[in-house]
Amino acid sequence: MFDLTSRDIQYLPGVGPQRAAILNKELAIHSLHDLLYYFPYKYVDRSRLYRICEIDGNMPYIQLKGEILSLETFGEGRQRRLVAHFSDGTGVIDLVWFQGIKYLLGRYKAHVEYVVFGKPTIFNGRINVAHPDIDPAEGVVFSEMGMQPYYNTTERMKRAGLNSHALAKLEANLFALLKEPLAETLPAWLVEKHHLMPLDEALRCIHFPRTPEQLRRAQYRLKFEELFYVQLGILRYAKERIRKYRGFVFARVGEMFNTFYSHYLPFELTGAQKRVIREIRRDVGSGRQMNRLLQGDVGSGKTLVALMCMLIALDNGYQACLMAPTEILASQHYETLRRFLGEMPVRVELLTGSVKGKKREEILRGLTLGEVHILIGTHAVLEDTVNFASLGMVVIDEQHRFGVAQRAKLWNKNTRPPHVLVMTATPIPRTLAMTLYGDLDVSVIDELPPGRKPIRTIHQFDNRRENLYAFIRGQIRDGRQVYIVYPLIQESEKSDLKNLEDGYGHICEAFPEYQVSKVHGKMKPADKDAEMQRFVRGETQIMVATTVIEVGVNVPNASVMVVENAERFGLSQLHQLRGRVGRGADQSYCVLVTGYKLTEDTRKRIEIMVNSNDGFEIAEADLKLRGPGDLEGTQQSGIAFDLRIADIARDGQLLQFVREIARAVIDEDPTESRPENAVLWAQLKALRKTNVDWAAIS
Ligand code: ADP
Ligand code: MG
Repeated sequence: MFDLTSRDIQYLPGVGPQRAAILNKELAIHSLHDLLYYFPYKYVDRSRLYRICEIDGNMPYIQLKGEILSLETFGEGRQRRLVAHFSDGTGVIDLVWFQGIKYLLGRYKAHVEYVVFGKPTIFNGRINVAHPDIDPAEGVVFSEMGMQPYYNTTERMKRAGLNSHALAKLEANLFALLKEPLAETLPAWLVEKHHLMPLDEALRCIHFPRTPEQLRRAQYRLKFEELFYVQLGILRYAKERIRKYRGFVFARVGEMFNTFYSHYLPFELTGAQKRVIREIRRDVGSGRQMNRLLQGDVGSGKTLVALMCMLIALDNGYQACLMAPTEILASQHYETLRRFLGEMPVRVELLTGSVKGKKREEILRGLTLGEVHILIGTHAVLEDTVNFASLGMVVIDEQHRFGVAQRAKLWNKNTRPPHVLVMTATPIPRTLAMTLYGDLDVSVIDELPPGRKPIRTIHQFDNRRENLYAFIRGQIRDGRQVYIVYPLIQESEKSDLKNLEDGYGHICEAFPEYQVSKVHGKMKPADKDAEMQRFVRGETQIMVATTVIEVGVNVPNASVMVVENAERFGLSQLHQLRGRVGRGADQSYCVLVTGYKLTEDTRKRIEIMVNSNDGFEIAEADLKLRGPGDLEGTQQSGIAFDLRIADIARDGQLLQFVREIARAVIDEDPTESRPENAVLWAQLKALRKTNVDWAAIS
């Protein structure tokens, strides 16, 4: 059967070669099918008009009809803005534009009726709509308009006349071409059982819904399908992997583990640590290759769990390897493990980029001979020259700093892939973990070691510096140390670096009696390290830094974390930074410094930080506020698919629901041969080819 939708987009009426090239480049739309699946990002209910007197502070995009009373410009240069006072007889609002002012002034006039569309906000007691869509009201017939789709476009597209409106028109042209209903991509039984809208109808309605109810049903159907196939793919791949890869069997827990447990362990394990170690023991004894994600808030004691698991590998005649994202962290782990292991006959070595020459050769030889039991290192351990006698267990700290390809390299360091434990302190909400790492088992340390005092978090406006400095001085007098962190989101941004330098100068002036360290990403690793070490040794009292100190650094004597421009950090990042303090027995503090004017969003973020110390709660909130695309730790985690319509933050329940359905399908049709599922397996195969690389996920 010839599928019309595979036809090249340039042959659609209204496109042609030039626009086709732009659609290819800007939106990766190559075929009619691609266009069909380019969904609107919002809709305006153009059958409904609101009145200004109905507006409250909390409204979505709405539509108003009225006239402009007057137009005014304020400010100069980049501050310049155009304000139109707009009324529909029930009240007055301000329409505000910051760009294209000249054009707008030429185009819109007072005392003409317009239909305005935008999102109202309330600022200083006045209702504002920034950058609204505005069209002459003449000729608009509301009852005929239904829900109007809005499509994302780019500047380049707009210049070629491909704005949202034009895209809507192309979609309409496309539907006019389709004489036959589109072939269903879910099996009939599934559509029926869950009362889903048929595909053909759902696609028409997602572009041109007549009513909100119709739109809701179309969205549900398409989200259902999208999440269903993601889960089906992941679960099927996971099953495949279990079948294909046998794991080393660590049958016994022997002398190393037991000696450590009874003679060297300096404190009682927390209940959560015990549970996680049990879970891991079960995995590595099962014959299955372990692939486990260990989540635990900062300071929850993951390192110790890692060590004890590595000892199990040693007990069974295998070597273990612990990888950290930076040299500082790797050497800290090295010191920590050496200290924990005391006099035990375990040879631990540290391999980083700066270990060279004879020392390096010695380590490499020790590894191939099996004399080095535990190797700790950075990316350097991945190099081809690093060969083990028998690597059985790999622990990866702060997993999100490592890409998929790097993890794959580790798999090839032995004849069979070693067991893999990835640890992260960036708590990934359950719904997201399921989608990202559908086949990864997850363990959680949800308990902190006893005796920790919860960190007190304080919000401070930046015009109250004397207070802040007095507080810092008091803490240092009590023998504590202090971090002051500046944002440096892009390590190349000059203005950020200047911020840091200014801040540093400022602090040196304000605290002439103390030593101040400075660390940022532009420094040479060796210098950075040396400066860090000065702070660790207590030679400096204040550390002025960028987020380079975010991960894992452990200075128990530091009790204050000041975050400057806290509004510029994401929630998870703030939580990570806060986790740098509160590691000792003293009361610790996190001070979030912001400007006076805050957006609603920032206000919420700061409030969450002040009220919660729970990383998971914060991660969930972050996901809701920012959406998964931005979530810390997921960007670099090698997410292998794009969701077109489902939203992990909002559709968590649906995700779990379809996951169970997918699981049942796999269980009931293990040979993938039932005729009623033919559509389904064919579709999965087709998707695999286009946009999903399951093998890359694990
Ligand atoms: P993280 O999970 O952030 O990597 P660490 O492993 O660095 O946490 O542990 C934080 C601190 O808590 C370390 O100093 C460690 O020795 C200590 N610690 C770990 N487990 C326990 C425990 N069960 N009881 C008391 N202290 C512990
Ligand atoms: Mg750690």
